[in-house]
Amino acid sequence: MRISQIIRTVGAQLREGSIPSPVMDAELLISHALDTERFRLHAVDDRELTADELRRINRLIRRRVQFEPIAYILGRKEFYSLDFIVNRHVLIPRPETELLVDLTVYHARQNAPVVDIGTGSGAIAISVKHSRSDLEVHATDISSEALATARKNAARILGRNRIRFHRGDLFKPLSGMRFQVIAVNPPYVDKKCALWLQKDLSFEPEVALFSGRKGRETIERVIAGSGGHLTDDGVLIMEIGDDMMDFIKKAGKGKGYSVSVLNDYSGLPRVAVMNR
Ligand code: GLN
Repeated sequence: MRISQIIRTVGAQLREGSIPSPVMDAELLISHALDTERFRLHAVDDRELTADELRRINRLIRRRVQFEPIAYILGRKEFYSLDFIVNRHVLIPRPETELLVDLTVYHARQNAPVVDIGTGSGAIAISVKHSRSDLEVHATDISSEALATARKNAARILGRNRIRFHRGDLFKPLSGMRFQVIAVNPPYVDKKCALWLQKDLSFEPEVALFSGRKGRETIERVIAGSGGHLTDDGVLIMEIGDDMMDFIKKAGKGKGYSVSVLNDYSGLPRVAVMNR
């Protein structure tokens, strides 16, 4: 079978499996299996594939038709124009979370200490440090596998020892430390919705996605714990679910914060900025 034929065949298989953007995924998976760039598929000679190459392609297709996210199959996800390693221990960075990075970069004063709580792949902390090398950037995660992934990403993207990593739940590993910006993308999906959410989500770490009490539990714990870790001019910047605007305003005010909520690029409420 030739490259042009396999693209058509795989595209049709994925379409039949109700995979969104089947042709793009076909090209991404095929170029990954052939260890080449996607644009080269069309540019190189339309050659016959070897049996081994066909086997490699089929292995990847089988994973995608089970709805495994393309980022896990490729082991990569672009975020903030940077190339991150991802695996099943970390949430796949979402484009809307780039707003959280923008706001952190905007609010952080020169040389300020900032922290990314629950860093996962390290996407937020590393993107912030990449844009603002003056900042003293810390990152935490409860999962040692996630932290290992974040460390690897930090070393590849920024070089060694540019970010200070701490293992533990929320603020636990930060005892006695204060930050001018605390940035958090907490798990905020209601566990009860898990069953009928997209199948892709079932591949991602539950601890990164789901939270109790209608998805609000972790957010409430972050708000409660943040006060003791902010400087006097500190800001807590947190991603929230698009139905959480009223909740977050009330929860923030209850702990003495003034809260503003910003929309993401799809016009949905997405990030809460809380000042003391
Ligand atoms: N925005 C993600 C989703 O709905 C959830 C990310 C999160 O819980 N922090 O898939």
